[in-house]
Amino acid sequence: MNLFDVYPIINIEPVKGEGCFVFDAEGTKYLDLYGGHAVISIGHSHPYYVKKISDQLSKLGFYSNSVIISLQNELAEKLGRISGYPDYSLFLSNSGAEANENAIKLASFHNGKSRIISFKGAFHGRTAGAVAVTDNPNICAPINPRDHVTFLPLNDLEAVETELKKKDACAVIIEGIQGVAGIVSPSDEFLKGLSELCAKYDTVLILDEVQSGYGRTGKFFAHQYAGIKPDIITTAKGMGNGFPIAGTLISPKFTAKHGMLGTTFGGNHLACAAAIAVLDIIDKDHLVQNAEEVGNYLIERLSKVAGIGQIKGRGLMIGIEFPFPVGELRSMLIKEEKVFTGAASAKNVLRLLPPLSLSKSEVDMFVGKLQTCLSKLQVNSL
Ligand SMILES: *Cc1c(COP(=O)(O)O)cnc(C)c1O
Repeated sequence: MNLFDVYPIINIEPVKGEGCFVFDAEGTKYLDLYGGHAVISIGHSHPYYVKKISDQLSKLGFYSNSVIISLQNELAEKLGRISGYPDYSLFLSNSGAEANENAIKLASFHNGKSRIISFKGAFHGRTAGAVAVTDNPNICAPINPRDHVTFLPLNDLEAVETELKKKDACAVIIEGIQGVAGIVSPSDEFLKGLSELCAKYDTVLILDEVQSGYGRTGKFFAHQYAGIKPDIITTAKGMGNGFPIAGTLISPKFTAKHGMLGTTFGGNHLACAAAIAVLDIIDKDHLVQNAEEVGNYLIERLSKVAGIGQIKGRGLMIGIEFPFPVGELRSMLIKEEKVFTGAASAKNVLRLLPPLSLSKSEVDMFVGKLQTCLSKLQVNSL
């Protein structure tokens, strides 16, 4: 059987990981500033994480949500405390798209409405409901109708109010920082205004923190810079450090009814053990503060590199904008300098989403390698 060929892949196979590095079978070492797609939060193959998952697997790997799973309560308690949302409830699933599907369903159950407001450049996942609120018609199939979705420009409160005044909006869904679009941030003022407008017009505010959450921006959730409390928050990528798990965090104003949401695999023993280990390390090693500190250092170092345009984002969710498309630079970084970075739909943006444990010396290493590539590119273009 062949693999269904949907991914344009890089011709490298990492077989081992350690901290912010991965290695191929020949032992070539790569600095991972892509974090396996913003997923690796505490670093690759962290020994404590490996032990917690292995210990759990040797006891019980899985049982269904029809019985007590105390690990879920332990995870909810820790996540509530560390994220600053102890009064919210948690629904566990397996992926970011699912977390968003559940958020959208809950919003609609809650206020009975069905129109969704999303934003230009938004990415919320690939499943039917999530892809419909994603601003990319190319990944929407004809069976994924989106006539119930309105896409508005980011940071335009007036446009939002005009829509909300129609009183039929079930929810507004917005990323803490848009990742796929190329690290595009809603302003703090916009988020504050959005939060007030949603309350005023009985519309649920859903913050998609699947990529921007879990400490990545230097706060546990990116929206916390704006000092708002959304009705629903979704999280996934960094939550399991690669083990599939996602969460929908739900404000106390929502009432749960038996059967309204459900999943077979969501919140299973192994996934919870992984997510608990991740939170333990984030907490003990102060990785949220590290993301802020090392992120600021990275921004400062990059600001002195010649040939770079704007530097966007916060903490360790950084977009470097260049005055040219980054394809060649990115493949040079991988092939010649052994550094993984991410692309974005904005072709001139290099996306950095490293493990939150990144150190300043790893930043120095990257900046040196980036400078080498930039001077080579300059020579080539002469
Ligand atoms: C990755 C991502 C998703 C989808 O998560 P999956 O786990 O791939 O389903 C949703 N929203 C944002 C902001 C993401 O970055």
